[in-house]
Amino acid sequence: MPLPKAELHLHIEGTLEPELAFALAARNGVTLPYEDTEELRKAYLFDDLQSFLNLYYELMAVLRTEQDFADLADAYLERAAAQGVRHAEIFFDPQAHIARGVEMGTVVDGLWRALEHSEEKHGVSTRLIMCFLRDESAESAMATLEAAKPHLDRITGVGLDSAEVGHPPVKFREVYEAAAALGLRRVAHAGEEGPPEYITEALDVLGVERVDHGLRCMEDPQLVQRLVRERVPLTLCPLSNVRLRAVRVLEDHPLRAMLDAGLLCTVNSDDPAYFGGYVADNYHAVRDALGLELEQMRELARNSFLASFLEHDEERRARYLAEVDAYEFGR
Ligand SMILES: [Zn+2]
Repeated sequence: MPLPKAELHLHIEGTLEPELAFALAARNGVTLPYEDTEELRKAYLFDDLQSFLNLYYELMAVLRTEQDFADLADAYLERAAAQGVRHAEIFFDPQAHIARGVEMGTVVDGLWRALEHSEEKHGVSTRLIMCFLRDESAESAMATLEAAKPHLDRITGVGLDSAEVGHPPVKFREVYEAAAALGLRRVAHAGEEGPPEYITEALDVLGVERVDHGLRCMEDPQLVQRLVRERVPLTLCPLSNVRLRAVRVLEDHPLRAMLDAGLLCTVNSDDPAYFGGYVADNYHAVRDALGLELEQMRELARNSFLASFLEHDEERRARYLAEVDAYEFGR
């Protein structure tokens, strides 16, 4: 039985496995420029951010209907459940779909078809977090928030993703203020490839409650002290960091030092179809590469529930934490 955990940094579009990509392409009459799943899987072995993003956006063309989004989410939830995930807070990128003529309602209603049955079918509770693409304009982000208004009963929060450098958090001040006024929770990618200042800005200007990645905080001891003091959770994605060259090899990953510093770290999979593993694979990889103790693994799992947006469901959080505390390794 795998360690119970929450996954808090997961882009649903990044869970598209080659087999499902081909199945959806066939269903929608889309021709992929790959002979078969084997050739496509080889294309997943990119070695930089741009070739990853090119492939990521190219494959989105197979996602057209509500059922496509439902199938995508259901496939993820099934895999996640098998890896011990009990609660998932799932990112989606509406702008990437709206730009190719797929409406917000199709995306949200499609994902919801899978999410609303997730608990009974997979034993995984869920939240949905809508991300803005930071390399698009602030106006586009605001229009996206506007388009989401009829669907806010299904959306817990907003996030900020895609290419970080050159797109500081401050660019999205107004849209985050508007999101806060709507009662949405706020997170943002910061301090992955961008500098530690972006983390501070995400906290002070956007009011984020959780920082996605954030590993470059380690370059600024005062920022580390603040993150520890304010108990700001960080959603780390170790295998992603290696594939996108944020760290050279996993052995160089700062996770262990971050835990030692008292930071509230969590481990997540980011875009697991592309980055070489789902969330338990990430746990195992850091345990092996960094020599983490079993109790540190338990701490990571506890942190994942502490950092979850379960404020309206504290009974559930307590139940999940009790599962982590009672977990016996090696059984
Ligand atoms: Zn991410």
